[in-house]
Amino acid sequence: MSLTFDFVQPEPAATDRITLFCDVILPLPLPKLYTYRVPYEMNDDVVIGGRVIVQFGAKKTLSCIVAAVHETPPALYQAKYVLEFIDDAPVVTQAQLKLFRWMADYYMCTLGEVINAALPSALKLSSESRIQLHPAFVREEPTYPLSEQEEKIVEALSTEDGKALTFTEVGDLLGSTNFHKVIKSLIQKDVIFLFEHLADKFSPKVVKKVRLAHHFVAEAALETLFQQLAGRPKQLDVLMRYLQKVPVYQNEYSNHQGIEKAYLTSAPHLSPSAVNTLIKNGVLEQFDVIVSRFPLGDSPEAKLHFSLSEAQVAAQADILQQFTEKDIVLLHGVTGAGKTEIYIELIRKALEGGGQVLYLLPEIALTAQIVTRLMRVFGSRLGVYHSKFSDNERVEVWNGVLSGRFQVVVGVRSAVFLPFDNVSLIIVDEEHESSYKQYDPSPRYNAREVALMMANFQGAKTLLGSATPSVETYYQTRAGRWGLVTLTKRFGEAGLPEIELVDTRKGREQKTMLNHFTPELMSEMERKLALKEQVILFQNRRGYSPFINCLDCGWIPKCKNCAVSLSYHKHAHELRCHYCGFHDRMPVECPACGSRNLKTVGFGTEKIEDDLKIMLPQANVQRMDLDTTRAKNSYQQIIADFENQVTNVLVGTQMVTKGLDFANVSLVGIINADSIIHYPDFRAHERAFQMFVQVSGRAGRKGKKGKVIIQTADPAQVIFDKVIRNDYLEFYEYEITQRREYGFPPFMRVIRMTVKHVDQLVAEQAAILLTQELVDRLGREAVLGPEAPYIFRIRNFYLQEITIKLDREHTVLKHAKSEIMAAINVVKDQKEFKQARLVADVDPM
Ligand code: ADP
Ligand code: ZN
Ligand code: ZN
Repeated sequence: MSLTFDFVQPEPAATDRITLFCDVILPLPLPKLYTYRVPYEMNDDVVIGGRVIVQFGAKKTLSCIVAAVHETPPALYQAKYVLEFIDDAPVVTQAQLKLFRWMADYYMCTLGEVINAALPSALKLSSESRIQLHPAFVREEPTYPLSEQEEKIVEALSTEDGKALTFTEVGDLLGSTNFHKVIKSLIQKDVIFLFEHLADKFSPKVVKKVRLAHHFVAEAALETLFQQLAGRPKQLDVLMRYLQKVPVYQNEYSNHQGIEKAYLTSAPHLSPSAVNTLIKNGVLEQFDVIVSRFPLGDSPEAKLHFSLSEAQVAAQADILQQFTEKDIVLLHGVTGAGKTEIYIELIRKALEGGGQVLYLLPEIALTAQIVTRLMRVFGSRLGVYHSKFSDNERVEVWNGVLSGRFQVVVGVRSAVFLPFDNVSLIIVDEEHESSYKQYDPSPRYNAREVALMMANFQGAKTLLGSATPSVETYYQTRAGRWGLVTLTKRFGEAGLPEIELVDTRKGREQKTMLNHFTPELMSEMERKLALKEQVILFQNRRGYSPFINCLDCGWIPKCKNCAVSLSYHKHAHELRCHYCGFHDRMPVECPACGSRNLKTVGFGTEKIEDDLKIMLPQANVQRMDLDTTRAKNSYQQIIADFENQVTNVLVGTQMVTKGLDFANVSLVGIINADSIIHYPDFRAHERAFQMFVQVSGRAGRKGKKGKVIIQTADPAQVIFDKVIRNDYLEFYEYEITQRREYGFPPFMRVIRMTVKHVDQLVAEQAAILLTQELVDRLGREAVLGPEAPYIFRIRNFYLQEITIKLDREHTVLKHAKSEIMAAINVVKDQKEFKQARLVADVDPM
């Protein structure tokens, strides 16, 4: 930071005048908080957790969060003045600040990095932000009156379509640098939106909807209305149609949501002009809605109430009972046990008690299916927080939690950042999921752990749910610290599927393989398709083939930025790197020897899809992986097609293993189980077990007995036996013994250090020095490495890894972290390592 000496305000004569300073959290990776001075006349305006605008560096101004207010000037620099106070009330609560501090401490990062990850960008104003008119804003009929300054900005933004203004331009326009409050007000009134990068520019779809005017919702009023419309059959038809579609009396919220106007105006036997007359006469009201990037399926069949089965009732009672003694309970229920309905009942109870509820789901499991279900039950009290949401939608949820509008939020991992301050129940579904962990960038947090800490701080209970609990979690229940409730049967008639292993080595020797399919899997697929049942195929690799190979000289194309071979993607006719995104055209001939004998080796989802289209021409095959789901809503579309049985076979990566609940799937095939088991990591077995059981769980859900076929070159591997019998306990016993023996979690805590540098030698040397420093401080036995990881170069950076294993005791950990920071600083202080990046990952997954 450059310390420019600003004009210092003259000290007042009065002696009782207090000078206030505030420590602020800038959304930047700075090790310390900065202190700014509060202009005297603003002393009453400082709000802890509110945003203020400050100058940072020579030119840049940005918003930051006030973390503390005091009277001590900073010792080492002259404090600059806060430029503007934006909020009259906190946007970040005290409870959040406490949690964020814990995160920074625990995950060895800065508070600024946590805040930066936590706040939706529209809450982060900076001189680089820009504004634009909100597409739904109609200048002629503003919903709220605008001030003179606001009018001026709207005027300037209206000169052409899509016109944007930078903050500097806004400042010039208003002739003042204090304009951030005006901007905040315009955002709140939905007049403008804010963006930082052109890519974030938001172009939502606006849909016209109608609903019954509020004063007709009461039954008596509606009867009168019917009488009034008696002589107008066309209008009556429209009204009847509306009431058929929207169950106004069962669920008032359904009227609030209304329906698309087009549903009425384009219905063949209804008169569009009758619709407009009803609007004109104030019977129906018309309103605009910004359609979300996350379309909610509005399936009218979704029921409001399910009555819980006996097993569900018993499990629920057991959970509540255990909550009287324990803060954390694991609900271990097989796939299809009906855990969701139990969650819903518990949420209902928690809301009755007046507390807030957070319901966490992994990204992929948070589907329209579940959101619709929850909407039906919790209506407008439910907020949804999804990473596919636009920034504006995220701000809406943030503010809704702050204001108390949303009492329950269902969301992905980043929902732990929301401003809860009175949580009474947290549910972490699929608690074993590695997608709760954020790998990059910092903070490298695990949302499950953060949720547990939030619950701890706010006195809430936490329910973890899974069919395949993580070894760490199960260990806690075994140790008696956490409660455990088990559901061993699926809901209703559905039994667990039968699992069969098929030997691909034998198939290859006997030459019975059909491409990558064993005859067993092939004929089972044909049988199921003939019965009009559906099939899911799991292959843990996307693209057509993981590499290509010149048959004459052995050349294999490699990524120029990473130490990996390039995958062949047939559809795009490209070679692609799955680590950095580098891509190149598929060569016609070998660049080394000129031969045209280029062969694809191995197979990914694309090849499976391709083969099936030839081998099963009558079937409709669809692929779901990163490549086919990149486009907006394409994921939802693939799911909808499969649900509506437009698709017969769904081929995919991990995406197909999770959370999907389709009634008609009776066969699941795992095409190559071996690549999943032989992964170089201490969690490989756990992950393989979870993946096999979870994907198997997609088969045979409603009534029909499902079947799972696992193809492997080595059916004798220990893990299969446990998967086939769905014996979690046996798997656990086996795994925990290994963990104890080799000193892995839950017995030890792991911190992984990664050293990165563009020069391989420098990376190695920095890693050696870091290792020495760590060994000096923590002892030889605590430090493993350094070594190059399996993929030792990514995006031009050479990597070196050091694994630190620590005792789980809290005090040990705290001490060790400060020693690690000290070791990192020693390395960073060396001139030759200035450009090296040293990253600490606490509890890596
Ligand atoms: P899990 O999350 O345990 O894998 P789900 O919650 O997805 O299981 O439930 C499996 C299926 O059983 C779903 O289709 C769900 O709608 C249905 N189901 C669960 N409980 C009930 C209930 N009480 N009444 C009717 N259907 C239920
Ligand atoms: Zn060649
Ligand atoms: Zn690459």
